[in-house]
Amino acid sequence: MRAVLLWTISDFPAYGMLSGWTTHGRLSCPYCHGSTDAFQLKNGRKSCWFDCHRRFLPVAHPYRRNKTLFRKNKVVRDSPPPYLTGQQIEEDIDYYGAQKTVKQGGNWHVPGNMPDGYGVSHNWHKKSIFWELPYWKDLLLRHNLDVMHIEKNFFDNIMNTILNVPGKTKDNKKSRMDVPDICSRSELHIKSNGNVPVPSFRLSSEAKSTLFDWVASEVKFPDGYVSNLSRCVERGQKFSGMKSHDCHVFMQRLLPFAFAELLLTNVHEALAAIRAFFRDLSTRTFKEEVIEQLHENIPIIVCNLEKIFPPSFFDVMEHLVVHLPYEALLRGPVHNGWMYPYERSMKHLKGKARNLAKVEGSIVAGSLTAETSNFTSYYFASTVRTRKRVPRRYDDGGVPQSYAVDGVPDIFCQIGRFGGKLREVWWSSDEDKHSAHTYILLNCEDAVMRSFESLFVSQVEEAIPGISGTEVDARKDKHFVKWLKGQVDYDDPYYPVWFHDLIQGPVAKVTTSSMYFTRGFTFHTYEYGRRRATSNYGICVKGETDFYGILQEIIEVEFPGLLKLKCVLFKCEWFDPVENRGVRFNKFGVVDIHSGRRYNKFEPFILASQAEQVSFLPYPRLRSSGINWLTAIKITPRGRIVAGEEPPLQEEDAINEVEVPDQQTDEILLIDSDNCQYEDLPEDVTDEAREDEFDRSDDDHCSDVDENSNDSS
Ligand SMILES: [Zn+2]
Repeated sequence: MRAVLLWTISDFPAYGMLSGWTTHGRLSCPYCHGSTDAFQLKNGRKSCWFDCHRRFLPVAHPYRRNKTLFRKNKVVRDSPPPYLTGQQIEEDIDYYGAQKTVKQGGNWHVPGNMPDGYGVSHNWHKKSIFWELPYWKDLLLRHNLDVMHIEKNFFDNIMNTILNVPGKTKDNKKSRMDVPDICSRSELHIKSNGNVPVPSFRLSSEAKSTLFDWVASEVKFPDGYVSNLSRCVERGQKFSGMKSHDCHVFMQRLLPFAFAELLLTNVHEALAAIRAFFRDLSTRTFKEEVIEQLHENIPIIVCNLEKIFPPSFFDVMEHLVVHLPYEALLRGPVHNGWMYPYERSMKHLKGKARNLAKVEGSIVAGSLTAETSNFTSYYFASTVRTRKRVPRRYDDGGVPQSYAVDGVPDIFCQIGRFGGKLREVWWSSDEDKHSAHTYILLNCEDAVMRSFESLFVSQVEEAIPGISGTEVDARKDKHFVKWLKGQVDYDDPYYPVWFHDLIQGPVAKVTTSSMYFTRGFTFHTYEYGRRRATSNYGICVKGETDFYGILQEIIEVEFPGLLKLKCVLFKCEWFDPVENRGVRFNKFGVVDIHSGRRYNKFEPFILASQAEQVSFLPYPRLRSSGINWLTAIKITPRGRIVAGEEPPLQEEDAINEVEVPDQQTDEILLIDSDNCQYEDLPEDVTDEAREDEFDRSDDDHCSDVDENSNDSS
C-alpha cells in the first residue's frame, strides 16, 4: 500500500507542532513569517496585530495614506509578505539551523538552546519530520489553518468585547492605557480623572438584555440545525456553553441583523461584513472569482474593524483571516480542511471510553464491538429492527412513487415521507379542492397540458380583445379545469391513462399529517410547530418573485382511476411578495418580511417539491415600531450539496469602507454620570497572557445535535 500525506488539519497550537513554526508570540503567523508588523502591547503585554493589514490593500487605496484612523501618523507603503514556496521554506529552515533539532534530542527550543534570531526574525523551532517526504516541498498547501477555530475565536472576541464580559473582553483598562501611544482616538483615552469613556462598540445594558431576551425566546431554527440557543443564555447575563457550531450559526445567520438596531450603523456594518466573509468562505461550492473577491475584500473588512475596535482586540486570530482566501484557492471548499468532521468523530470515540484507567484500550475495544455488531447485523432477517435500519430523522424514504405505466409526470413521483399520525379527511372546502386541482394541472410540466393551456389562453384573448395578463390568469384559475374536461372525450385513446385520471379531479378525501420529510428538509405545520423550540414551518418558493409563507396544512391528493396518482401539496399562508412593501432586501443579503401584510390572492397551494425552508426571526430592538419586519433565514437542506444555493455576498456591493461618525469628545463624556457603565470596565484578570488562542477543551467544540458535518454553511 502507498499513501500520500495531502495536508494536515489541526488547531493552531498543533499547527505549530506539525509545521515546526512556533505559533505563539509576535511571529506566530506562519504565512507572514519574519516580515510581520505585529508588536507587543506595552501595558496589555500581549502580541497585537493592530494595523497589520493595510499592506494587504491595493497600492492606491486611501486607507494606506490615512494618518488618523489607524496607527497615528503612519503611512503604509509596504507590499504584503510574499507567500513562500515549499523550496524557499525549506531553505529558510536550513538557513536558521532548525534541522539540528533532531540531533539535540528534541529539546532544541528550550531557552538555552535558542538559535540566533529565534522569536525575533523567525520562529522555526524544528525541521518537521514531514520534510523527509520527497514530495513535501512541492505541495502547495501543507497545513490548513482551521476555519472552525478561527471563526469561533473571532466570534468569541467580538461578543465578549461588545457585551463587555469581565475577564474576557478585549477592551479593558490596561488596553486603554496603550491606546494613546498607538493611535489618536481621544474617545477611547482614559480621562485625567480616571474615568473611562464608554466606547461606541459596547452594548448598553438595555441593549444587552434585549439581545439576551431575543436569543432566549425568539430565535428558533429547524430541528437539528443548531442546539437550543436559549440554553446558552446564562441568567440573562452572558452566553455560556456555546459550542463552535453554535457560534458558527450565530455568526453566519444572526450577526447580519442582530445588531442592526442595537449598535451604531458603522459598528453593525463592520460586523455584518466579517460575517459575509465567513459565509462566503464556508459555502459548499466555490467559484474562483468569489475567492478572488474574498481575497480583495478581507483587508478592507479587517481595516474597518481596526477603525472601531482598540488595538488589543486584534490578536493572531483576527489576523489569520487575511490568509484564509489564499488557502481556499489552493484547497477548495472549506469542508475539506476544517475540524468539524474530526471533532465529531473524536466525540464519538471518546464516548466509548468506559474504563477511565485504560482510555485508549477501551476505545479500541468499543470500536471493535461496534464494528462486529454492525457487520453481523447484515445477516439478520429484514424484519429485525437494527440500529442501521431505523430511519434517520431526516430520512425521506428515498424511493419515489412508481406507477404501472410510463410517462406519468414527475410531480406524481416525488420523494417524500409523512411523519406523525396520518389522518383521512374531507377537503375543507370546494374552493380548496378546485384550487388544488387547477394548481396541479398547470404545474404538471407536460407537453399536452401545456398545449391545452395555450389554447385556453388564446381562446380567451380572442373572445375578449385587449384583456390583461392578470385577467387571463384569473380566468385560468376559475375556468380551466371545467373547460379542459369539455375538451377531452372520456375514452379518447389518443390521451394516456394518467391524463384521463388527472382531469377527473381529485377524490373527495385527502390524507393529511403534521410532518413531512423531503429532500433533506423536515416540515411541520404551523399548528403543530408553533409551541416547539424549533421552527420548521417557514416556506419559501423561488420563482420570478420569491414567495414567503407559513405552512398550514400538508395534504396528499389522490386521483381516482386505476393508477391512483398521488401528489403532496402544501397549503400555505403567504406574505405580501411585493418588494419594498411586503419584502425588503439589504446589501448584506438579509431578506426582511413585513409580518403584517398578506398576499391578497387565493392561491394557497404549492407542490411539496417546490418548497424550500426558511426561519422567520424578528429583530432584537430597543423600542417597538409600527412595522414588524421579520428576517427570513434560508435553511440549507441536510446532506445535500446544491450548487449556487445562495449568491455570494462578495459580488454584491456589501464590502465598503465603513464611515466612522465624528464623535465629539464632549459628547461621549456627556453620558449619564450615574451610569455605572462608566466604571464597569473590568481589570484584566487574564494577566498571564494566554498565548494559545485556542481553547484546548476540544470536546466542547462540537454540538451533538447532528451527525452531519458542514450542514449549515
Ligand atoms: Zn499573516
